[in-house]
Amino acid sequence: MLNSLRSIVQEVNAARDLPTALDIIVARVKSSMITEVCSVYLRDGDNGYVLMSTDGLNPDAVGAVKLSPEQGLVGRVVVREEPINLEYAPAHPRYQYFPETGEERYNAFLGVPIIHHRQVLGVLVVQQTERRRFDESEEAFLVTLSAQLAGVIAHAEANGTLAAFGQQAAEAKFVGVPGASGVAIGEAVVIAPASDLRAVLYKPCSEIDVEIEFLQRCLAAVREDIKQVGKKLKTRLNREEQALFDAYLAMLDDASLGGEVTERIKQGTCAAYAWAEVILEHERNFSSMDDAYLRERAADVRDLGQRVLAYLQEEVQSCRVYPEKSILVGEELTASILGEVPKSKLVGIVSVKGSGNSHVAILARAMDIPTVMGAVDLPYTRIDQRQLIVDGYQGSVFSDPSEALSEHYSAIIVEEQALVRGLEALKDLPCETLDHHRVPLWVNTGLMADVVRSLERGAEGVGLYRTEVPFLLRDRFPGEEEQRIIYREQLEAFAPEPVTMRTLDIGGDKSLPYFPIEEDNPFLGWRGIRVTLDHPEIFLVQVRAMIKASEGLDNLRIMLPMVTNIPELEAAQVLIYRAYNELLEEGHKITLPPIGVMIEVPAAVYQARELAARADFLSVGSNDLTQYLLAVDRNNARVADLYHALHPAVLRALQQIVSDGHSQGVTVSICGELAGDPGAAILLMAMGFDVLSMNASNLPRVKSVIRGITLQQADELLSEVMLLPDAYEINVCVERALKEAGITRLLRPSISN
Ligand code: PEP
Ligand code: MG
Repeated sequence: MLNSLRSIVQEVNAARDLPTALDIIVARVKSSMITEVCSVYLRDGDNGYVLMSTDGLNPDAVGAVKLSPEQGLVGRVVVREEPINLEYAPAHPRYQYFPETGEERYNAFLGVPIIHHRQVLGVLVVQQTERRRFDESEEAFLVTLSAQLAGVIAHAEANGTLAAFGQQAAEAKFVGVPGASGVAIGEAVVIAPASDLRAVLYKPCSEIDVEIEFLQRCLAAVREDIKQVGKKLKTRLNREEQALFDAYLAMLDDASLGGEVTERIKQGTCAAYAWAEVILEHERNFSSMDDAYLRERAADVRDLGQRVLAYLQEEVQSCRVYPEKSILVGEELTASILGEVPKSKLVGIVSVKGSGNSHVAILARAMDIPTVMGAVDLPYTRIDQRQLIVDGYQGSVFSDPSEALSEHYSAIIVEEQALVRGLEALKDLPCETLDHHRVPLWVNTGLMADVVRSLERGAEGVGLYRTEVPFLLRDRFPGEEEQRIIYREQLEAFAPEPVTMRTLDIGGDKSLPYFPIEEDNPFLGWRGIRVTLDHPEIFLVQVRAMIKASEGLDNLRIMLPMVTNIPELEAAQVLIYRAYNELLEEGHKITLPPIGVMIEVPAAVYQARELAARADFLSVGSNDLTQYLLAVDRNNARVADLYHALHPAVLRALQQIVSDGHSQGVTVSICGELAGDPGAAILLMAMGFDVLSMNASNLPRVKSVIRGITLQQADELLSEVMLLPDAYEINVCVERALKEAGITRLLRPSISN
C-alpha cells in the first residue's frame, strides 16, 4: 500500500497538466484497490462539482455530469467533509441516478473529500458491483491518498488556468499572504536556481531550427566533456565501468533522449524546458522499476540531465534583460537575491515560500516594494515574462490581468502616491497625540538606502540596525575596518540621534552564504547571540568596529539578539567591555555605549526584570516573540494565518515587559514589525513603550494616526482590547476605533476585490 501511495503521488506530481493528473489518479487507484470504478469530481466555479475523470463509468459522462452540494452522494461527501462508505448505495436516501454514467450496475460506494486549505476541492469515488462495505484499510488508503493529492491537484488546477503562451491568456488569481504593502503592476522575472531540473522556466520557442541547433551544440559539448572524463579515468576503470561512459554517450543520441527533446521543441517548447521534461520522465520511470540495477540508472539519467541543462542555461542566463517594471518571482527568494534586479526596475516581489515575517519580506518593506509571500499554488516556472499584479495589501497575485482589473489597480497606485505625498508634510511635525503625549518614532535599517529614506520621513533615531544585512550581501565576513566604515555611515547620518546596532543575528532563516548553518530546526537552533558567543573572534571584531565608528559621535547603542538567559547577557557584556578597554588602550577617544537586550523569546519575557536590572535598555523583537509564544514558524506560509501579533497572549507579554523594564528604570522600546502597524502602534503607546521603531515606509502613517487621537482614547482602547479573547476580535475592535476617529484610510486603501 505504501509503495502504491508513493508511486501514485509521484506520477501525479509529474503530470503535464490537470487532465493527465486526474487520469493517472483514476487508473492507478482503480488498479491498486482492485475496484471496478474510480472517478474524480472537482469543484466547478461556485456552481457545484463536475465529473472530471473516470475509469469505469461511461467516458462520455466526463464534463457532462454536474451536481450541486445538495445533490447525490458526492454532494453529501462535500457537505459532510468526511468519507461515506456504503455497501448498497442505491438504498441511501441521497442516492441520485445520473443516466449518463451508466452506474446503475454498481452497488458499493466509497467517496472521500479532497480538501486543500479547508476547501473541498472535489471528491474521489470508488465503486463496485459486489454488495460490500469497503474495509477499513481501503478507506484509509483512499483518505491518505486524497490528503496527499489535494495540494497536487490544486497546483495542477492553477497551472491549467494559465493559458499557454500565444493563446488568449486568461486572468488567474493566486493567494498568498501580505509581505509588504502596496500594489505593483509589471512583468514577471522568475529567478530559478540553475541546473535544477524541477525549476526550469517554461518558455515558448518560435525559431524551431535555431533551438534544435542550440540543443545539438549543448549535447555535443556534454559528449566532449564525457569523453574527456572517460579518457582521464581510462586506466582506473574496468571494462564494465567504461561501458557506462558509452551508455551515457548513447543516451544523448537522436535515437534516444536527444530525439525525444527535438520532438518537443518542434511542438514549440524551448530546449531547456523540453530537456527537463524528458529527463524527469525517464528518471521517474527508472525509479519506479522493481529491478534494483535499473532503479540505480535513475541517478545516471539525472546526472546527465543536469550536465546538459547547465549548458542549456548558461547562454540563456547570461543575457537576461530586466523590464522597466520587473516583478521578481521565485520559489524561495532570499535577501541576497533582491540585489539581482537593478533597484530602479524592481517594482514588486512574489515568493512561493515564506511568510510576511520572513526576512526577505522585512527587507522588501524597508525598500517599500509591494510583496506577496507564500503564494504556494503559483506555478512559478510557467509565469516568466507574464503580466502580473501584486497586491501586497491582500496578499494576492493576478496573472494576465484583464484591462478592467489593471485599471482598478492603477487607480489604487495613484491613490497611494497621493497619500504618501500628503503624509510628507508631517515630516517635521512632532509625533504627539492631540493631548500632547510625545512618542519618539525610530526606524529599522539595514541598507544605506534605508537611511536616506528614514531621514526624509522624519525618523528621530534608529531602533534596530540589522547588521547582518551588510554581512548577507558579501561573500565573506567583512573585516574590522570594512565594518567600521559601514557603521560610521549609519552613525553619522543620524548623529546626534541614537543608532541602535544589533550584533550579528544569523541562523534561523538568515544564513550567510559563506557560513552555512544547516540544522533540522534552525529557529530553535544556533541563532543570534548563541553563534556570536561561540565565536568571540567574530563578535569582538564587530563590537570593536561599532565602537570605533562611534568615536566623536557617541550616539551608538549596542543591542543583543535572542538572549534567553542572564549568563548570555553577562558573557556578551564582558566581551564588549574587553573591546572597549582595548580601544581605549589603543588611544581611541570613545565612550562606552549603552548595552541593551532584545526580548524575543518567552524565557526573556519571564526574566525581563532581571535582564533589565543588568542592562541599559530593553527592546522587544515582536516578530520572533510572536513566533515563539504562539509556536508558529514565521516563515511557514501554511501557518501564516495563525501568526497573530495581536494575540491576547502576545499583548499580555508586551504589557508585562514594559512594566518590568520600567520597574528597573530602563527604557523599553519595540522594534518588531508590530510597531509599524498603525492600529497596533496606538496600543503600544498606551502600554507605555518609550520608543516605537519601524520600517521607514510605515513611519508617516503611524505618526499620522498618533497625531489624530488622544492618549486617553488610546488608553480606553487598550483597556477594551485586553478583555477580548482572541486576535480576530481585537483586530475588529482596533479597526472600529480607528474608523470612529476617522483614520481608516491610512490603514489600507479600499480594495474591493
Ligand atoms: C524581531 O524578531 O522582532 C526582530 C526585530 O528581529 P528580526 O526580525 O530581525 O528577527
Ligand atoms: Mg528577531
